[in-house]
Amino acid sequence: MKKIIFAWIFIILAGTIFVLIKNSFWKNKPSVPENNISISAPSENNPPNTENEGSIHDQLPASSVAEYQASPATQTSSGFQPPIDRAAERVTKKPFGIYITPKTSPIQPERFQGYHTGTDFEIFPDELNANVTVRAICSGKIAVKRTASGYGGVLVQACQLDNQPITVIYGHLKLASISKNTGDTLNAGDPIGILGKAYSSETDGERKHLHLGIHKGSATSILGYVQSRSQLSGWIDACILVCK
Ligand SMILES: [Zn+2]
Repeated sequence: MKKIIFAWIFIILAGTIFVLIKNSFWKNKPSVPENNISISAPSENNPPNTENEGSIHDQLPASSVAEYQASPATQTSSGFQPPIDRAAERVTKKPFGIYITPKTSPIQPERFQGYHTGTDFEIFPDELNANVTVRAICSGKIAVKRTASGYGGVLVQACQLDNQPITVIYGHLKLASISKNTGDTLNAGDPIGILGKAYSSETDGERKHLHLGIHKGSATSILGYVQSRSQLSGWIDACILVCK
């Protein structure tokens, strides 16, 4: 009888230890291997498009946007100006860092996929057919002024933030409304031009809105979306500086 009791105790203990070890193993195992994240985002050489870039993005978690919105407040906003009138009152359908897929995007239909590198400023209803002026948020030279896939008209300005170089991307502008040229200086608050007409070549078919991105460093990039969180760390949440 004693032998049977000891045998049962042994079996129960062994079973418990097995379950504990198994659980701790699975807890430590990452659900998505880092190296499975493909890099394919819109850029000058790789413009944004509607092509299916692979199903791997569907396996990524639906993004913890909050951690990017709560960026470290080391950037000072001194000298920065809002890019558009009543900036703080405007709806932001796509905030900085939100992970977009054609299925989950707040904008439908959607052709992009990835982490949004900028902040979108929507228009007010009465601005649909009005001229909406976009202003420089900082002082610096125009580095890029051209039409680009995914944007229509886009302007990139080289500025500084806490003595570090940054480039500012203003997307979906009416290119013909921009009188200044590459190399010219824009001061904070200076009018740049106006927003492109909704669903036209001026916005590359997008709704009328401003996409404002800030890229760290002096190298220009007009990526509207990136495909990994590590890439997103190369961008700054513009709203911290100008949504006030
Ligand atoms: Zn955008």
